[in-house]
Amino acid sequence: MEPKSKKAKWEEIHGCIKIGTSAVCTLCNDSITARTYNVERYFLTKHKNSLSTMMEDEKLEHIKKCVMQYTQQKSSLQQFVVKHHPSTKSSFIASLKMVNFSKIHF
Ligand SMILES: [Zn+2]
Repeated sequence: MEPKSKKAKWEEIHGCIKIGTSAVCTLCNDSITARTYNVERYFLTKHKNSLSTMMEDEKLEHIKKCVMQYTQQKSSLQQFVVKHHPSTKSSFIASLKMVNFSKIHF
């Protein structure tokens, strides 16, 4: 079995997803600097106590669920933006025409 990557450990054990130079905690949506030390320290200070009543399997399952929900929300938002891209494009064209129209008359 291959050792888990840093990314996999952050997601599975700490519930954090790396996005650029930051990591997002999927348990509470806080943003953390994406460094292993910061992610571990953050998890221990912020969530260790709230998850301490859970058994280890239960805790990992809860974290997995939070990561999955966050990923699904992110995916839904991306689909929404892509779906509504034509309106953004139309808005840009309308703005461009207004600017061009204004230039002609000034
Ligand atoms: Zn958090």
